[in-house]
Amino acid sequence: MEPAMNAEEIYTLTIDGKGVATATASPVLDPATQAVIGLAPIADGDCLDAAIVAARGAFGHWRDAGHDVRARSLLDLADAIAANLDDLSRLLTLEQGKPLARAREEVMGSAFWLRSVAARTLPESVNEETADRRSITRRVPFGVVAAIVPWNFPLLLAVWKLAPALLAGNCVVLKPSPFTPLTALKLGKLARGILPDGVFNVLSGGDDLGPRLVEHELVDMVALTGSSRTGQAVMRTASAGLKRLMLELGGNDAAIVLEDADIAVAAARIFQSAFSNAGQVCVATKRVYVHDSVFDAFFERMVAHLDALKVGPGHEDGVEMGPVQNLPQYQKVTALIDRARSQGLALRSAELRPGLDSGLFIAPVLVMDPPWDSEVMLEEAFGPVLPIVRFRDAGDVIAHVNAGEHGLGGSIWSSDLGRATALAHQLQTGMVTINEGAYLAPWVPFAGHRQSGLGVENGQEGLLAYTQPQTLTTRLT
Ligand code: NAD
Repeated sequence: MEPAMNAEEIYTLTIDGKGVATATASPVLDPATQAVIGLAPIADGDCLDAAIVAARGAFGHWRDAGHDVRARSLLDLADAIAANLDDLSRLLTLEQGKPLARAREEVMGSAFWLRSVAARTLPESVNEETADRRSITRRVPFGVVAAIVPWNFPLLLAVWKLAPALLAGNCVVLKPSPFTPLTALKLGKLARGILPDGVFNVLSGGDDLGPRLVEHELVDMVALTGSSRTGQAVMRTASAGLKRLMLELGGNDAAIVLEDADIAVAAARIFQSAFSNAGQVCVATKRVYVHDSVFDAFFERMVAHLDALKVGPGHEDGVEMGPVQNLPQYQKVTALIDRARSQGLALRSAELRPGLDSGLFIAPVLVMDPPWDSEVMLEEAFGPVLPIVRFRDAGDVIAHVNAGEHGLGGSIWSSDLGRATALAHQLQTGMVTINEGAYLAPWVPFAGHRQSGLGVENGQEGLLAYTQPQTLTTRLT
């Protein structure tokens, strides 16, 4: 299938329910070709102020509109997304690089997430009910939420934030990554006329926009998905106003393959987990520890998957892995691979087919049994690179993984579910899966431990995260 030609389309910010053009714009590139596919408006200080003031102005009405009105709006937005499946998916593939089938999943997943969140409620809890006094606690919104998202899942990760934030009664200013702003700008356009003016605003811009949004005095909460370093910067800036934070940050998820695992199943699923979205998934498997007795059999199967992986432009039928999303990421990952090679590590890489030179394609790489403390094991590559190491004692693996700075997810692979569960309990990560890679669903809480994050997304806890308690006590006598 040919990519959609969007280069002529005019993208606008969404501020107070209206499309806003800007004096300046920046080119957005297709990572498969590096051709310009559209111009993203650059929001200046006036746009930033206007969006936040609009959100603040809309807040009282939106909060008081009631749960059912807000839930209905989320359902209408879900319908609008689903109705624009073809356009949104093509645009997502163009700007992000992922295979079109995966882009369609992301778009439909976004609609599904909105519908699922819309079905939630925020119950009141009764603290005391006597003849003299009634005390209840309800959950109330913060006000204006700044939602800041990265470039790996530009639409889905925006929806992860805006759906619970809006349902809880907050107003939102969404800031996409400068690398992938177009789908978010389109989402803003779709939301005009569905959500009341000011309730949902979308601003694109340069690297300075995120910090300015975080420090703005009318922003009450910042919900960020990004790197741990950005999380630290956001925390520093937000501390001045004691702003509420939700930080979903980096990870270095380990898969631990025990000697009694089904090796064929483990290899297939771990490969999928590691190389899906070209490895640019926060909860991708980023390193694998395999019991010595099954290491060779496991590695052999991983090589077979590597050689069978079809790499190419995302709009091409049958492609399973697209390019890396942006040039800095491409340079970071290729430098990591080059250093691993120059350190004498054993790399097994796939061949890229000819004709991909103009895009940011990286041949996927397996690193065979590097030292546990090598850079390739300890750094989050966020690209198609997977180190696979041997172990003899699972206790050593748990200790090594727990000593790292990240604590996002991890997986245990075994036919003995009791033993796998016992090991899972020892992993200091927010999520652990047994016999599968990361499992994400609107009803499953998602939280990073240590430098992988702060707070919870998804599930009932993820909705509560966009609220604060208000206790109301009434003296009755
Ligand atoms: P990034 O941290 O560079 O950028 C994320 C967003 O933050 C972008 O919109 C960026 O413009 C903005 N930003 C950057 N500096 C900022 C600052 N000082 N203040 C406010 N905003 C700022 O991350 P990225 O390169 O876009 O994405 C890759 C990273 O995101 C990886 O580390 C990955 O693990 C992580 N990630 C985490 C999750 C999760 O849920 N835990 C999901 C996806 C990606």
